[in-house]
Amino acid sequence: MVTAIGIIGLGKITEDQHLPVIAKNPAFKLAAVSSQRGIEVEGVPTFRTPAEMYAAVPELEAVAICTPPQVRHLYAREALAAGKHVMLEKPPTATVSELADLAFFAAECGLVLFTTWHSQYNPAVLHCRRLLQGETVKTMTITWKEDVRRWHPGQKWIWTAGGFGVFDPGINALSIVTEIMPSPVFVKSADLTFPSNCDAPIAASLRFRTAHTEEGLVAEFDWRQTGPQTWEIAIETAVGNRITLQNGGARLEVNGVLDVEHAPHEYEDIYDRFAELLRERRSLVDAAPLRLVADAFMVGRRLVTDPFHD
Ligand code: NAP
Repeated sequence: MVTAIGIIGLGKITEDQHLPVIAKNPAFKLAAVSSQRGIEVEGVPTFRTPAEMYAAVPELEAVAICTPPQVRHLYAREALAAGKHVMLEKPPTATVSELADLAFFAAECGLVLFTTWHSQYNPAVLHCRRLLQGETVKTMTITWKEDVRRWHPGQKWIWTAGGFGVFDPGINALSIVTEIMPSPVFVKSADLTFPSNCDAPIAASLRFRTAHTEEGLVAEFDWRQTGPQTWEIAIETAVGNRITLQNGGARLEVNGVLDVEHAPHEYEDIYDRFAELLRERRSLVDAAPLRLVADAFMVGRRLVTDPFHD
């Protein structure tokens, strides 16, 4: 079975991952793209709006929505109403209620809705989840520090309300946490640091708790890190094992010894999973990482720092 798929939004992640990965996957055929700027992809028609794409390419069966999160609900609802299965880039929506609505609407339409959390698609993350099953986590230190100018050059939307700011990468860490932790994690408190000229935070310090652990579970997200970039989750279990996920979940050390390391294959695995969901006509909607971000904003304390200029 080959699914005719379209892409909405021809930005960085579409160019870096969706286009080359779809081209390599025999389960999909890129049938059209929708780009408000009119960006073209060789060999397929481009439309300025999804509505024009659905009207002109009725054989389209699915779309991947790769826009900023603020407009995703609108595009996803429109796609479902047009009878298309939907893959959502992360974060799936700007708010928790929007995602709940999409899950309900997809089920009502009998269509597949898939929330992708790319960091979860790492063998080291899956292995870490198995290692932690049945364990009690005593401490967890998330360090997610990167240079916003290097990874998000010129992206205005990330600094606007609903653009997530430093939670755009931070939610990747949280999507690993919700996957690996043996019991649910709750946000206890958060310090959110906003540049004085932006409506989204440039840094966040979070403290968490679980039903079993009140202290020692923390996260530091920071977009001001130049030089080496850090995407690490270090965990100590109640029996004294030290488990460290590094490189955004690609590498796992246990008690200082390398256990698993794989070159990133996240989007290849995401498209394989989408093909499987389409065959089974089953949705996969995971709201847990988005809920943690929403909770951080709910309990968060606002701090103000220097203005940010790209
Ligand atoms: P981007 O480079 O800014 O691209 C987003 C594209 O969406 C725009 O270029 C635009 O393309 C389209 N778009 C549609 N409506 C828009 C609107 N109202 N405002 C701005 N753009 C609009 O962003 P990106 O880095 O690809 O990120 C897109 C999503 O993918 C984000 O949710 C991000 O978290 C996620 N993601 C990004 C990366 C990464 O490395 N960059 C990695 C994983 C996930 P057209 O003009 O072609 O319509």
